[in-house]
Amino acid sequence: MSGSTDMIIRARTLVPVAQPPVENGAVVISGNRISAVGPWPDVRSRSDGKLFDLGEVILLPGLVNAHCHLDYTDMAGMLPPPKTFTDWIPLIMAAKSGWGYSDYVRSWLNGAQMLVRTGTTTVADIESVPDLLPEVWDATPLRVFSFLEMTGIRSRRDPEGVLQEAVEKIESLSHPRCSAALSPHAPYSTLPGLLRLSAETARARGWRLCTHVAESEQEFEMFMHARGAMHNWLQRNARDMSDCGLGSPVQHLADSGMLGENLLAIHVNLLARGDAALLGKHHVHVVHCPRSHDYFGHPAFQFRQLADAGVNICLGTDSLATVRLRGKPKPELDMFGEMRALAAWEPGLSPTDILRMATVNGARALGLAAQIGELSKKALADLIAIPARTSAGDAYAAVLAHTGPVSAGMIDGQWVVPPEGF
Ligand SMILES: [Zn+2]
Repeated sequence: MSGSTDMIIRARTLVPVAQPPVENGAVVISGNRISAVGPWPDVRSRSDGKLFDLGEVILLPGLVNAHCHLDYTDMAGMLPPPKTFTDWIPLIMAAKSGWGYSDYVRSWLNGAQMLVRTGTTTVADIESVPDLLPEVWDATPLRVFSFLEMTGIRSRRDPEGVLQEAVEKIESLSHPRCSAALSPHAPYSTLPGLLRLSAETARARGWRLCTHVAESEQEFEMFMHARGAMHNWLQRNARDMSDCGLGSPVQHLADSGMLGENLLAIHVNLLARGDAALLGKHHVHVVHCPRSHDYFGHPAFQFRQLADAGVNICLGTDSLATVRLRGKPKPELDMFGEMRALAAWEPGLSPTDILRMATVNGARALGLAAQIGELSKKALADLIAIPARTSAGDAYAAVLAHTGPVSAGMIDGQWVVPPEGF
């Protein structure tokens, strides 16, 4: 028998992800961990904790959003989809230049609230304004991996200085649920020296690393052939272009020592021959952002190629600055929306595969396999419930069909969306 401080959560259907769905199931929460998962009669006989019978719901792990820019949330609908990616860069730069500290705080927190409401419990977020930390961490229940964005092209700062500032910021932070790490923004917006230094530092300290790569055709053209709209625009802005014309963006990361098990490579929409194998060989995690992909109209995501190469593919929302407006209500950061968008564009993927991308795959990318993204014994108590009258056989399809807020949410053993009636 467990102590009476335990919580027992019962649901019509459990989708633990790490094991098959369970009809009439329950989990036991002890402190901030899950201490039991199984059929309700078994669990009930082994625990005497406070019961939360959620009834006709599916209980599943909290979703892992592997790529977001919370600080751009309030830019939803501000930037119409551009003709090319290169046309978009000055638009976002102009939008950012009009914003001050309090705009970013408000925007970040609005985004965090949307994520909690729609079932995300862990987010890998890019911070363009590191000064927001740790204030915003304290104001959200989310588990946050904050990746500090580094560029250095426009500011003409040397890579050592840019890196040193980020490392000092990371080392100044300490939080029970949140942590910070490095993100050289993208190969095109950084110099090879910053990529190399970031990779060395992250490896030496056991930190995750994150970068945007091979997002647009213009970036691909710039690195492959030293030409095209992005190449010319950056050349006019006095970037040293001597790293172009030497191979693909992924090859460029490889040459800079960036590829490794700790790397989250965001987008990876364009692959040269051998790139998928290279990513697979180095155990790189790729994060696909379906709605942002659609906003830019990028060439089709090479799902099969990457999966066949053994790459761990995760899902992210990206920012609301890059989600199309559809009708009146503004879009929300919502991993269920991303899962549905992916299902529409990749009909060969099963609902099970898609939910794995939004849970266990993201957990692995963040170095938290078996800790988050699944309902299993000893995992952290991060879970959500969605209303559904469905049997275990239809559970994955029902998860994908869910729209709107979750009916309950828990992070680290605390209700963040309290279930109705309790
Ligand atoms: Zn991004």
